[in-house]
Amino acid sequence: MKKLVVAIDGPAGAGKSTVAQMAAKKLGYTYIDTGAMYRSVAWKTLQQGKPVTDELIIEVVKDIDVKLNYSDGKTVVLADGEDVSALIRTPEVTAIVSQVAALGPVRSKMVELQREMADVGSVIMDGRDIATNVLPNADVKIFLTASIEERAMRRYKEMKQKGFDVDLEKLKAEIAARDKADSEREISPLVKAEDAELLDTSNMSIDEVVEAILERCR
Ligand code: C5P
Repeated sequence: MKKLVVAIDGPAGAGKSTVAQMAAKKLGYTYIDTGAMYRSVAWKTLQQGKPVTDELIIEVVKDIDVKLNYSDGKTVVLADGEDVSALIRTPEVTAIVSQVAALGPVRSKMVELQREMADVGSVIMDGRDIATNVLPNADVKIFLTASIEERAMRRYKEMKQKGFDVDLEKLKAEIAARDKADSEREISPLVKAEDAELLDTSNMSIDEVVEAILERCR
């Protein structure tokens, strides 16, 4: 099969990273989780122990070195050499990541890194602006979504499994607020690319979604 570039975008909790990771493994492609990169900047900002302002975030992004090491179907996220793979998934990081990702200097640095990473060919990249901005020439473009109820329930189960004490209604409100911020920001907002295929996964199993992605690649 020809080496393809696959772009998967969609709102929070749509299951992008789960299915993209599984599809990448089956295809032998590299998986690039761009949300993890914005989360790393958010995490490093919180590490400063200061009030989170746009100025502080911009200071942090100037120096940060973010790397995604993907091997054997797993991604290790490194921020200045430290493995932050688990640390970037906390509610504290999630609470500020949309503010971080709305800033021009953050986006330009991350997008440049993302394009470099995609240069190897045969990649599946997921995020919010992959098909519209990062890789507009991607061979396969999918906009993955699901109802807010379903997305909140999926995130709830995932967080519970990781041992976080979460409330379903709060989670739903947090997801809705993050989608709103991501969709309404000025730079590269979350929007379906005109030539992307809409895939509503509300009533689909993980395996069915993975199969649907593989089908597009075939
Ligand atoms: O995908 P994930 O939920 O981990 O992404 C975290 C946040 O990073 C999103 O809510 C969004 O603010 C930002 N993001 C982005 N552009 C991307 C990927 C993520 O703005 N390509």
